[in-house]
Amino acid sequence: MYKYVFIDLDDTIWDFHANAKSSLHEIFETRKLYNHFDNFDQYFEIYAKRNLELWDQYGKGFITKEALSLERFLHPLKMVGIDDAELAIAIGKEYLDLLPTRTTLIPYAIELLDYLAPKYPLTIVSNGFIEVQYRKLKSCQIEQYFSHVVLSEAAGALKPDKRIFEYALGLNEATVSETIMIGDSYEADIIGAQNAGLDQIYFNPNVAASPTNFPATYFAKSLDQILAIL
Ligand SMILES: [Mg+2]
Repeated sequence: MYKYVFIDLDDTIWDFHANAKSSLHEIFETRKLYNHFDNFDQYFEIYAKRNLELWDQYGKGFITKEALSLERFLHPLKMVGIDDAELAIAIGKEYLDLLPTRTTLIPYAIELLDYLAPKYPLTIVSNGFIEVQYRKLKSCQIEQYFSHVVLSEAAGALKPDKRIFEYALGLNEATVSETIMIGDSYEADIIGAQNAGLDQIYFNPNVAASPTNFPATYFAKSLDQILAIL
């Protein structure tokens, strides 16, 4: 039986995609970027694709946090002929100010936390930036559900590195066999938990059933299905 639950934050509890999109939409309007792009969707598509590539490179240790923060906003501007690093830095700052104030959660997130918190010490295990992740928890008023918040910058390793999970186990004085990890990223959360020897619940709302090529201990298409597992 499990005694401890580790859980990812972005796109598992906090709807990163929706919140990022609405933050960027606001900046797109205030910075009048519509003068340079066909529409917001065009801007967002260019941004999102490059952002994903950069997070992958950051996760592998190829680029710094600073390079990631600049390049993801500079790239879309360059695509429309604006090579303005200062503007990109300003947009990046506005984005990081706006984003953590957004409060859209994944469906059933509160139901899941209400169910789990009285039964298990809950620990967030996230690769997000420290200054951003704590503000998200505060904005959504969900801090009280968690015994620990483990972020890669403090743990000194990024998921899927097993050291971030070992760091979280140490904080809880928990063993591998009594702990389960819930997350939406197969590579970061599920492979990561497997690297550390933990059982896993793979949350993926975008597929109908557990994809056979992505094995996990359990699969949940919707967060409310986890109530039947734990
Ligand atoms: Mg995630």
